[in-house]
Amino acid sequence: MEEDLSKKVNDTLLKYENTGKKEILEYINAIILSKNGKWDLGINESSQGLTKMLLCEYAMAIENLSNVQLKAKFVIDKLANQMGTLRYGDFKKKQDDNIKYDKNAVTSNKYTTQCRVESNFGAHTISYEENDKIQQDAVVLFDDKQTLKDGTKLSGIDFSNLSDIRHTIFHEWTHVMEKCLVERKDLKENIIYRQGNSTYINSLLSADLTMNEYQNYIDNIFLSNEAILFGGISTIEINLEKNPNKRIMHNQISEGCTEYISRLVMEEVGDTVEHPERYSKQVEIAKKVFTSRGLEDSLKDYLTCSNKIISELESCSIDGKDLLHYMSDFINLLPNINEFFKNKVDDKKNDEIKNKVMELWKTNPTQKSKVDFINFVIEDIKAISMDFNEKDESITENMLNMVIDYPKIESNFWQMVNEKFPVINDQRLGKETIIGFLKEKVYSLDEIAKKDLEREQNRNNEETREQDNKKKFDFGK
Ligand SMILES: [Zn+2]
Repeated sequence: MEEDLSKKVNDTLLKYENTGKKEILEYINAIILSKNGKWDLGINESSQGLTKMLLCEYAMAIENLSNVQLKAKFVIDKLANQMGTLRYGDFKKKQDDNIKYDKNAVTSNKYTTQCRVESNFGAHTISYEENDKIQQDAVVLFDDKQTLKDGTKLSGIDFSNLSDIRHTIFHEWTHVMEKCLVERKDLKENIIYRQGNSTYINSLLSADLTMNEYQNYIDNIFLSNEAILFGGISTIEINLEKNPNKRIMHNQISEGCTEYISRLVMEEVGDTVEHPERYSKQVEIAKKVFTSRGLEDSLKDYLTCSNKIISELESCSIDGKDLLHYMSDFINLLPNINEFFKNKVDDKKNDEIKNKVMELWKTNPTQKSKVDFINFVIEDIKAISMDFNEKDESITENMLNMVIDYPKIESNFWQMVNEKFPVINDQRLGKETIIGFLKEKVYSLDEIAKKDLEREQNRNNEETREQDNKKKFDFGK
């Protein structure tokens, strides 16, 4: 098997050398050597040309897909600057000890036995700080033959399957490439804005910041940073009034863009994607965004100034939200729907429920048939689950209603979205200026700071008043 892979790699490299790619291969080779072992060359001794081959394919494909707006050398340089570590199989003890995920070294037992098992990573891109505090990304493709001592099988990539390796690494490299560092002076739009009770942060920021760290970010780091880092078109939502400690990650449309680009590269290379069902809805939406704006330009923007795409989507109103978060809220529904299909009752019952849902989807279900279905499922769950209470029942009921209505929700979604995209494109090309519905709702940072100050003062006033009252009370005593 492994011999097979080495042969494929060597043959392909030879073919590339003979078809005008010799110069770019030499350029890549010099970069790989300069990494001093921080980038693996291949999976084993006999496949040492693998990284060289894949990087050549990826860079050339992006050049072609962007119609030379992004040169192959630009792609290689950006990856060389941003990707500090590249591993096949697993991380290397000692050499990679400084790379941390969730505060755990990736070479530690805890990362392997907990993080990897919980999140089921087949591959992983992790941001970390290199010696001189420069932020770098580590990319790893795990070997699918790893097991824990207790026999638990770990997720990974089949290293005898070149298509699987390609698709995975193209996806992860796009996660590296989608990081866009934009100088503050080049930023025209706000990157923190409020809409209703929600505050959206468009910059790349860890979702597990505490409230104090978040405030510190806005007060100090954000205001003093010369440049702002974006991660594709991911954003974070916080409800400062109601639930300041909860973060909603809006990263699934971005995930779709990453996956969509990796599939375009696969097509360009002439290889096939083996699991088109993965992220399929996300990719559908990403494709809509990219093709509506023009594929070549979108590719360039996504990989160099993704904030531009965020701000275009955010300046468009749809159903009381901005377009980016309207789409993201729809996508965030999907895990619930999927969860429902692999749930609670036994396999036979599950199939029965699934079939009933399919039946309901085919027709326009009446209120009665909906209620009948919901009762049917809830009775089943009650029969096997002792601690199923009233609260669970109402959650399940809402969930089931959403499952039944899903086709309607989706078709409505696409109708709304399809209407909006021509507008976005016209606006981008300057054909038509729509009044950004958010304009009046967008707060500049100064305003946010001012409002925070006001809030702070009000709070102080209230506290003083409270103390005054207390004093009076004390006096009375
Ligand atoms: Zn991904």
